[in-house]
Amino acid sequence: MENNCLFCSIIDGKIPAKILYEDELLVAIEDIAPQAPHHYLLIPREHIATTNDLTEAHREMVGHVFVVAAKLAKQFGIDEQGFRVVNNCMEGAGQTVWHLHFHLLGGRTMHWPPG
Ligand code: 5GP
Ligand code: ZN
Repeated sequence: MENNCLFCSIIDGKIPAKILYEDELLVAIEDIAPQAPHHYLLIPREHIATTNDLTEAHREMVGHVFVVAAKLAKQFGIDEQGFRVVNNCMEGAGQTVWHLHFHLLGGRTMHWPPG
């Protein structure tokens, strides 16, 4: 738990969020400002500021994020239409919360390349 971290506070239950899934490695919540009909955040329990801070020690957790993302996509019926798992690393890429997280987005047509 890192003081003054929004996602640590959510994981700790100090700030409310709609929790969809949780296990020993991560918590999945609804995004407060959804950018698609389905927009969820997969948040590791460990406070890691950005993707730049990942090490080999995080290998299992990062792999697990994608396994859970695929399960949630199936659960919400967006696996066949297609979905995105997105990580914004640093301000230039759109990161606004400094606790590593992965967006799961689906339920609408997506375009490539992203803006
Ligand atoms: P980033 O821009 O860092 O990649 O993504 C941060 C995400 O967190 C944004 O999609 C934003 O809508 C979401 N967010 C910001 N504050 C809150 C909050 O208090 N609760 C929830 N559930 N999501 C939040
Ligand atoms: Zn944190």
